[in-house]
Amino acid sequence: MSPDHSTMPGGYLHKVLDDGFVRLVDTMGDDSSIVQAARISYGAGTKRVSEDRGLIRYLMRNRHSTPFEMCEVKLHVRVPMDAWRQWIRHRTANVNEYSTRYSEAIDAKQKTPAESWRVQSRSNKQGSGDCLATDSGKLLSSREAELHQLAEEVYQERLAAGVAREQARKDLPLSTYTEAYWKIDLHNLFHFLALRMDDHAQHEIRAYASVIGREIVAKWVPIAWEAFVDYRLEAMHLSRLDQVVINLLLAGQASDATEAAKSFGWIMEDGDGLKPNRERSEFEIKAAALGLTPTWL
Ligand SMILES: Cc1cc2nc3c(=O)[nH]c(=O)nc-3n(C[C@H](O)[C@H](O)[C@H](O)COP(=O)(O)OP(=O)(O)OC[C@H]3O[C@@H](n4cnc5c(N)ncnc54)[C@H](O)[C@@H]3O)c2cc1C
Repeated sequence: MSPDHSTMPGGYLHKVLDDGFVRLVDTMGDDSSIVQAARISYGAGTKRVSEDRGLIRYLMRNRHSTPFEMCEVKLHVRVPMDAWRQWIRHRTANVNEYSTRYSEAIDAKQKTPAESWRVQSRSNKQGSGDCLATDSGKLLSSREAELHQLAEEVYQERLAAGVAREQARKDLPLSTYTEAYWKIDLHNLFHFLALRMDDHAQHEIRAYASVIGREIVAKWVPIAWEAFVDYRLEAMHLSRLDQVVINLLLAGQASDATEAAKSFGWIMEDGDGLKPNRERSEFEIKAAALGLTPTWL
């Protein structure tokens, strides 16, 4: 059972994962709406395109966010339930979801190719690392297929026995696809994209966020998108602590940098050397991007 997409309004369907998609239904406003709203604050002023770009970039840099709320986008999405569970935590959107109380659950479950089973990350308890060897993955994928089939059979048996859809669904796996209409303003969408396009987000939701960002938002509001990439998505945040250590490293005072890092609790030793420390690891990534390699001990 699946919704009839042929009668739904909207444009091009961007495929995501094996059976998911993001489809642009509607937009309100564009780059010029951001500028128009901002000029209420700053007066009529200049109106050339290059100056519009400068204004949008200024707003983004300075987190003057309300002009971005003048733009809205409505998407139709098809997402496995586990990714949707993360997605729906973003409370600033308007949502209407396919009802598996009213209709039969969508008969599609996200399948994992043999080469795509990721191992548990050692450094991030929430994350994953490299992929398992394809040979081990083949067994996992075939067991996944068996599980999907059994879950679907049990679900259909319950329906055939007259069990209510709202109860029959309870053992469907989290890989089952759901569909929703999702409407959000551009400010809150950028917040969603900053969190969900980030490396720390789970691969599956990142796939959706990347399509929304790079395929839809980049074309809809190109100037705002460019500003978002430059000043948020690919920008680096330096804490006060980061700046202290970086300034010492830049001044060639490596041992003072280590002392500062110790005073911040980044460096603790055990018998095997340095104990893992998340803030220190995050700092090392930023330092490497700046061409700095701290030698802590
Ligand atoms: C990598 C990652 C790991 C995560 N891990 C976990 C986890 O382990 N467990 C877990 O439960 N969640 C987890 N989350 C979800 C996370 O805590 C947020 O719930 C989710 O990202 C939505 O963010 P948000 O609240 O900022 O967004 P939105 O709900 O879109 O809200 C946007 C902004 O509006 C404001 N806002 C909205 N509603 C309220 C409100 N009621 N009160 C005050 N301000 C409000 C806040 O400023 C908020 O930042 C994780 C998220 C990410 C990206």
